[in-house]
Amino acid sequence: MNTHLYINGQWQSGISEIENRNPSDLSDIIGNYAQASADQLQSALDAARAAQPVWWAAGIQKRHDVMMAIGTELMARAQEIGEMVAREEGKPLAEGKGEVYRAGQFFTYFAAEVLRNQGDLAESTRLGVEIDVRREPVGVVAVVSPWNFPVATPAWKIAPALAFGNAVVWKPANLTPASAIFLAEIIGKQDIPAGLFNLVMGAGREIGQTLVESPKVDAISFTGSVPVGRGIAAAAVVNMTKVQMEMGSKNPMIIMEDCDLDLAVLHASGAAFGGTGQKCTAASRLIVHEKIHDAFVEKLVDAARAYKVGNALAEGTQIGPVVSEGQLKQNLDYIALGQAEGAELLCGGQRLERDTEGYYMAPAVFAGTRNDMRINREEMFAPITCVIKAGGYSEALDIANESEFGLTAGIMTTSLARANHFRANMRAGCVMVNLPTAGTDYHVPFGGRGASSFGSREQGRYAAEFYTTVKTAYVAAGEPA
Ligand code: NDP
Repeated sequence: MNTHLYINGQWQSGISEIENRNPSDLSDIIGNYAQASADQLQSALDAARAAQPVWWAAGIQKRHDVMMAIGTELMARAQEIGEMVAREEGKPLAEGKGEVYRAGQFFTYFAAEVLRNQGDLAESTRLGVEIDVRREPVGVVAVVSPWNFPVATPAWKIAPALAFGNAVVWKPANLTPASAIFLAEIIGKQDIPAGLFNLVMGAGREIGQTLVESPKVDAISFTGSVPVGRGIAAAAVVNMTKVQMEMGSKNPMIIMEDCDLDLAVLHASGAAFGGTGQKCTAASRLIVHEKIHDAFVEKLVDAARAYKVGNALAEGTQIGPVVSEGQLKQNLDYIALGQAEGAELLCGGQRLERDTEGYYMAPAVFAGTRNDMRINREEMFAPITCVIKAGGYSEALDIANESEFGLTAGIMTTSLARANHFRANMRAGCVMVNLPTAGTDYHVPFGGRGASSFGSREQGRYAAEFYTTVKTAYVAAGEPA
């Protein structure tokens, strides 16, 4: 049996294993990966509870140095680990490498944040009393992460969790266990208390569910789908566990008649199809001014057709395969649904054959869509984008805002007045002007509104809100003897 679980400072085997195949080449079995038992999860939680105060007491220099070491190694090994990300998730190698490098940056960023955890002083309304406000760790953090960014997403959760003195029990997505092991090995080999960091793999509805229901967990950070997120929020409230979630999206991009058309096509197609459309920041609703609608659509279709879809590890590949058979089936069902709803499929949407058997799909453009169609309301997580024609800026903004989600949103315009109005009136967590909806920095908050997010923001200084709890101390100084 393989030893893939990292619990209480030991690599362990599980009670069963799952097979992991390369979505670019189904004949390539990456390996069989351990699944934890409920007892192993409990021992990880107990170990985490015991290790957390030891880690907190180790002090800021120690925590800074460990964060720095993890980040530096991730950056140095970006090519090697990026190859595994590309192999098991299906994103092109350059994106896999970039993701691992970014994961390293999260750790080095939070290495510095360790030193900036400085608190506040306040005067008291009572004479002779002093007040200080400090941030302390929340305790044991459960991290539940998805497959689409198998290293970067857990990194932006685990890095602040450890930096602020917490212990971690991490349940990664079952589709990407090999990437998780790389990250766990780098964290596990640091000089940290046994049990401070634990990797517990298993099915979300079993091990994941037990984890989020545990009263031994003080905070849960989750990224994934809305239905699973709702269940996690319901489980968390039973124990009054702190919860933070990033979920679905339906990101709009408004293309105005005064924009640079070629730039708009570049950004819209890149944001729609990059990462095979499997990004929570993907541009899935393109709301286009009627004056340039036909010209934009023609160029967009040309761009979609020009993408090189292929093996994630092959030179020149721009779009890799869909991550899994289930996800591909869901995508093809959405193509059929869009057509049944009356949308016009202008290109793509079919499964593709390549030299190796994989889950390849041609990027698809739907035109003639309405915002009330299901393809414009539900997160597809697919290389499919939908064009909606709008009569003017106000109408475009109304359409953009009419969604249960609100993660990212973009506008392409040369009008400063429109850009400023959009920034102020778009209901989204991140707004982009003359930029793609996908692509964010690591040192500023990330998150959304509505069904896209729940709880406080991730990343940057704002992460402290979730990974710490505030203590207000009142001290009567007394008189010197
Ligand atoms: P899920 O929400 O099912 O999975 C995300 C993570 O949660 C995985 O680690 C999963 O484990 C775990 N999980 C699943 N069920 C539970 C549970 N009951 N309790 C605790 N943890 C659980 O997303 P999928 O990967 O199945 O993708 C489905 C859809 O979700 C996509 O098509 C996309 O629309 C959306 N999605 C959105 C993401 C985003 O960033 N916005 C990211 C990923 C998905 P396991 O892998 O073992 O099931």
